[in-house]
Amino acid sequence: MTRRALIAGNWKMNILRADGEALAAALASGVAPGAAADLLVCPPATLIAPVAAKLSGSAVSVGGQDCHMSESGAHTGDIAAAMIKDLGAAYVIVGHSERRADHAESDGIVKAKAAAALAAGLTPIICVGETEAQRDAGEAEAVVGSQIRGSVPESVAEDAVVIAYEPVWAIGTGRTPTVDDIAAMHAHMRQVAGSVLGGSDKLRLLYGGSVKPGNAVEILGLGDVDGALVGGASLKAEDFLAIAAAAA
Ligand code: PEP
Repeated sequence: MTRRALIAGNWKMNILRADGEALAAALASGVAPGAAADLLVCPPATLIAPVAAKLSGSAVSVGGQDCHMSESGAHTGDIAAAMIKDLGAAYVIVGHSERRADHAESDGIVKAKAAAALAAGLTPIICVGETEAQRDAGEAEAVVGSQIRGSVPESVAEDAVVIAYEPVWAIGTGRTPTVDDIAAMHAHMRQVAGSVLGGSDKLRLLYGGSVKPGNAVEILGLGDVDGALVGGASLKAEDFLAIAAAAA
């Protein structure tokens, strides 16, 4: 089964409008024609519309970084999935470890957000990953398996969702698991997700955590790794495009 790679950039809470538009324009003009991977950027919610405008007609899609689980209502400061879609987004990240930690998002909340995204016509990128203490305790696969069972909606098409493995200790640290550990975790994830979704041949699994141009080729070359979720390196067009090129 050939799954098309997805290289997704998470800009997090960075960049004001002028720099965001400039970065989007650099990606739109720099993306290789007929690129082997789907490219996606997830700017802050304030920039989804202007970034989508700059990327219009290019091969780069836009996504949100979070959505609320409800369709609408009295949730001051929150953003519904349909609102993100309305700005031109196709994807939304849910359950990033920074949101799980900063906003006490449980697996149940993440699952409800993923379901809300699907209902609005967005593809959720559902994040899972163990802490360093959990890895040191030999619990990484059990933790990630449990997060998948708790966060991924059942009875949806395998290719309607994306799951990103992001070990918490690898995010923004310059450290990554060994390629053997990434390969083993992704094989485990495909098996667990397959039992939730009823199959996993078409399911895209991303790796995230300190992906850089220098390590992208070996990580993206692993059979069960179908792309990357990139934080810091997605803020430089040159680095993000180099990572995308590594997916070829
Ligand atoms: C992330 O936070 O999604 C991420 C992968 O960050 P970084 O690439 O900076 O480790």
